[in-house]
This record gives sequence, C-alpha cells and structure tokens, in this order.
Amino acid sequence: MAGSEVKADLWIKEYITPWDVYEHGITKILAYQKTPYQEMYIVETGAYGKALVLDGKWQSCTGDEFLYHEPLVQPALICHQAPKSALVLGGGEGATLREILRWKTIERVMMVDIDGEVVQACKTHLGEMHQNAFDDPRVELVIGDALNVLDTTQEKWDIVISDLSDPIEEGPSFQLFTQEYFQQIQSILAPGGYLVVQAGPTSPAELKLHARLVKTLRTVFPHVASYCSAVPTYSVAWGFALCSTEPIDTRPDPDAIDRLLAEKTTGGLRFLDGITYLGLLQTPGHVRRAIA
Ligand code: SAM
Repeated sequence: MAGSEVKADLWIKEYITPWDVYEHGITKILAYQKTPYQEMYIVETGAYGKALVLDGKWQSCTGDEFLYHEPLVQPALICHQAPKSALVLGGGEGATLREILRWKTIERVMMVDIDGEVVQACKTHLGEMHQNAFDDPRVELVIGDALNVLDTTQEKWDIVISDLSDPIEEGPSFQLFTQEYFQQIQSILAPGGYLVVQAGPTSPAELKLHARLVKTLRTVFPHVASYCSAVPTYSVAWGFALCSTEPIDTRPDPDAIDRLLAEKTTGGLRFLDGITYLGLLQTPGHVRRAIA
C-alpha cells in the first residue's frame, strides 16, 4: 500500500483495548530492567526520538513530550500566578520538574517516585527531557511510594502534580486515583493551591477513565477543569484534570498570559503561549458530555 514502507525490525506494542494496539518502531534498546515495581525499556524510536516505556505503556518520547509535559504542568502554575512550592507524585523522567523550574517564583520542589531504578535510568539516558533538573538546588528527590509520603508530610504545597503511571489494576499507582487519595491531596494544598492529575486518554473508545476521574475529583474539589492535548506518541489526545478550591478562569486574556509568562518564567516553552493556553482550556464537546 502506498506510504506504508516498513523500516523497523523491532516494535514495542501497547495494548489499548481488546481491539486496539499502538506500536512504534525501535532502532535501539538503550536500557532494559525488571525493577521491583515494573518492567522498563528506554529505547530509541525511529520517529519520536528516545522513549521511556513502563509495563508496556509508552510514557513519553523526547520528540513530542513537550505536548504532554507543558500542558500537564503550566496551567496550574499559570492559575496560581506566584507558586513557591510544588510536589510531584511520580514524574520519573524529570521533565515535569523541568517545567516547574521554569518559574522564577518556585523555591522548593519535592518529587516522589516509587522506582529509584527508573529514575536513575532516566537521569542517565534521557538528559533531553530532564535537562539536569534533578541537580537544581530547589529540588528534593524522594524515592518512595506517594501514598506513604501523603500520609506523613506536614507541609502545605501551592501546587501538586500527579504524574503517575496509568491506574492499571496490578500497577504501582492504582490506589492513587481514588477519592480518599484525592481528599488527602486536598488537605495538603496551601490556600489557593492547585492539583493537576494526568487523567488518561480522551478518545471515544477510552474516555471512560477520564470521565470517571473528573467526576471523582468533582466530589472533592469545587472547581475541576478537564482539558486535553494531542500527543502523537499516545496516538490520542491526552486528558488532564486541574482542580482547586478557587474558581478556574477558562477564558483568560491571551495577552495577559503572555505577559505573565514573560515576567514569571525563564521562557523556552515550545507549545504554550497565551493563545494556545486559551484553546487548551476548552473541553471538547464529547468529553464534556461524557463527564456530564
Ligand atoms: N507520562 C506518564 C504516562 O504516560 O502515564 C506518566 C509519567 S511517569 C514516567 C510515571 C511515574 O510514576 C513512574 O516513574 C513510576 O515509577 C511512578 N509511580 C508509579 N506508582 C507510583 C507510586 N505509588 N508512588 C510514586 N511514584 C509512582
């Protein structure tokens, strides 16, 4: 068939539904490990650069991760306007840290990832993603279960970012997508704080998880905005849920956002600016209806 010349000998498949598989062609395996928590590959892909794959799920690729990490991180910080502290739950690759550290107001970030071996492999092989964020003096890296950290932390955080692996039943993050867990997060948010959750795909065939998560979050937070960004690695638009006790302005003035980003960040965003941010916050109709 025209346009279907196949170049790769090696493919990593992600099973999406009983009827759908995504696969990307691999040119090189950079690291492979069975850690106590998950099976990890770091690979070089033919189309999207270097990638992290955990338990057969594509986490991010250097070629398009900015389409995931900027929308994951920036809206919460933009809404806050002057965040000083941020807690990252999960976040293996370090790209979430990188995005937070763009903000000049940020004084402290704690990242809690359960899997030290995955984090170490990302530090070694995915420099393009973390850009040495782990060495920033504002960052504290904790290797541990986010559940335990939430049970013990006394601190209040301006921003909490849940950048955990998808909630698959046998996976290490399953319990972290529940109402009890979201209530715990609410209790450690500083007044005027924001939580953002990576909240699954928004394609019609897989929308249930996103809709269920947003509905659960709405039982805990008075204001929850659902939004999504198209990420080629995942083959679908990925969903996020932004939560707060404060109202979320989903019709901001793009020029004011550009001015805020120019003043408060060190710049370098590739996806997000005022106009893109305004568009990003408009929940597509099929997603709004699924949530309703
Ligand atoms: N972009 C991603 C995706 O596609 O789902 C998520 C990013 S990140 C790689 C997910 C991280 O969550 C992994 O590094 C994993 O070790 C971590 N993780 C999973 N369960 C966890 C838990 N209970 N506590 C802390 N970190 C956890």
